[in-house]
Amino acid sequence: MSEEKREMKGGISVDTEHLFPIIKKWLYSEKEIFLREIVSNAADAVTKLKRLSSLGEAKDVEDDFRIDVTLDREAGTLTVSDNGIGMNEDEIRRYICQIALSGALDFIEKYEGDDGAGTGIIGHFGLGFYSAFMVSDTVEVVSKSWDGSPAVGLKCNEDGEYEFMPDVTRDGRGTDVVMHITEDEKEFLDPARVRSVLNKYCSFVPVEIYFTVEGEEHHDHEHKDGEECDCVPKPVNDVHPLWQKQPSECEDAEYDEFYHKLFTDFREPLFHIHVNADYPLNFKGILYFPRIASEFDSLEGQVKLYYNQVFVSDSIKELLPDYLLMLRGVIDCPELPLNVSRSYMQNSEYVRKMAAHITKKVADKINSMFTTGREEYEKLWPDVKLFVEFAALRDRKFYDRVKSSLLLRLTDKRSLTLDEYLEAAKEKHEKTVYYVDDPTAKSQYVRMFTDEGIDVAVLDTFIESQLIATVESNEGVKFVRVDSELADALKGDGEQIENEALADAFKKLGGDTLTVKFENLRDEKTPAVLSLSEEARRMADMMRIYRMTGGDEPVPEMPVQKTLILNSNSALIKSLADAAADGGDAYERAVRQVYYLALIAQRPLDADELTSFLGDSYSILEDGLK
Ligand code: ADP
Repeated sequence: MSEEKREMKGGISVDTEHLFPIIKKWLYSEKEIFLREIVSNAADAVTKLKRLSSLGEAKDVEDDFRIDVTLDREAGTLTVSDNGIGMNEDEIRRYICQIALSGALDFIEKYEGDDGAGTGIIGHFGLGFYSAFMVSDTVEVVSKSWDGSPAVGLKCNEDGEYEFMPDVTRDGRGTDVVMHITEDEKEFLDPARVRSVLNKYCSFVPVEIYFTVEGEEHHDHEHKDGEECDCVPKPVNDVHPLWQKQPSECEDAEYDEFYHKLFTDFREPLFHIHVNADYPLNFKGILYFPRIASEFDSLEGQVKLYYNQVFVSDSIKELLPDYLLMLRGVIDCPELPLNVSRSYMQNSEYVRKMAAHITKKVADKINSMFTTGREEYEKLWPDVKLFVEFAALRDRKFYDRVKSSLLLRLTDKRSLTLDEYLEAAKEKHEKTVYYVDDPTAKSQYVRMFTDEGIDVAVLDTFIESQLIATVESNEGVKFVRVDSELADALKGDGEQIENEALADAFKKLGGDTLTVKFENLRDEKTPAVLSLSEEARRMADMMRIYRMTGGDEPVPEMPVQKTLILNSNSALIKSLADAAADGGDAYERAVRQVYYLALIAQRPLDADELTSFLGDSYSILEDGLK
């Protein structure tokens, strides 16, 4: 055994000279973030002082809190000053000279209880101050604590070496952080660049921020009382962003104005949702449904994430389910770290719950608009239906929430909910919704239904064609396209024709997939109607989509069985039946005409059909004039 006892335990020691280059390189992906960090520290210093003052610990604190960002191009410095809590020498040694002994934690432990929830103190991380070295070679900190100790000055260089500056003075409490910008980063000495960084990250920081360029006449000013020269400096930020207010205190116009400012989009949003989650989730925000002017507009929305009014990121997709990504707005959440990463967002249970909460709020809003102002809602519906239906299609829960607010547009432009539709229809047909995908092309069918007082819904989008299945399986109803099934209500009485020769003549034209039958239709004007099985047609549609969306294997076109219904009540069909035994050219031509006309009412003719149809039509005209 050796004489000396070997040290078996210890703390891993880190030399700042090794750590500094790492911080400089890796701490933040974007250098401009340093300004957010330093300004956040200044805002924290003010928040802390306010807290002490409200607790009665700090006395005679005036309410003139501010942060000054000053650019001195000649000296090559960018300075952030605050009149917050300040630091004494001991605190500078502890919080600035030692990495990661975060003063925020100390403060929270002392004055706020363990978790610090609701303090509004921004710092979390214990490294924010050092981000200044991403752009500076030297940083000076001059600070005077609220506790009355003398002012202290610290000069710190990029290698992590520091010295205290002798004989420092400062007017009043607070802290100046003077950053000597390096040659490489001198873009941060450009006023426009600094202003844009402040706008991006600090627009809603809760303490007024004034930006001044040393030696420049033009500061940000606002005219007081409209008088020419009586100008007062104007802060670059809005310390009371709308989302922090109670929804009941906000006017609609304020929401619109906030939207315009935030997104420089001067169209009115369709509607907004003010979220104010307190327990167990803790976040606030305002989300807007943008007006999408045309299908060429970008559908990509944008939610800006804030952390206690400090901007974090605007490219966080995880806050919303993909079907709500067109929403725009702000979310302020003090529970997420200021430096969120993509993988954090993707794996965070908290974020998942936030997304679920927002989704529920969207559904609630749709429902409340539906119940409180039907007329307004119907006007809005064409603009929102695409999104609402898409969301309902993607998310069963969302569907369940909004299903009673989904509207069916009818061919006569009225809008009804499913229940209203069924209620109105119950004398004529039960648990069936008749719909049309193309009201113009299928106007013949639509007319047959509406003539009998049956409402026809227009379901003309791809999403609607898909949503049908969800509604059917949940509500026990059947959607039947007008060319799929002859409603009983369309059938009438009369003498039924049974004429096999005539039926065969039609069958010869239609081939294997055509069945021919006679019915008595109430509408005497229509000699023949084509009808396709709803299920087989849907299946064929699905195969077509599958083919288009690139299944590797070629899928053959599925033949859909069609039925040609010959109307026994039609004078033309009666005449054809009479002529069937003798046949002849004129008879055959008339059969073809009736067949093609029935086809045209259901779908466009193909090239051969059209050639034949036009030829026959012209010869009929010629014959008529002979
Ligand atoms: P944190 O994430 O804790 O803010 P920083 O490295 O940015 O980490 O700052 C360390 C500590 O230094 C802060 O928690 C705070 O106590 C103190 N500090 C930094 N800037 C200021 C300031 N402007 N006024 C008072 N204290 C400050």
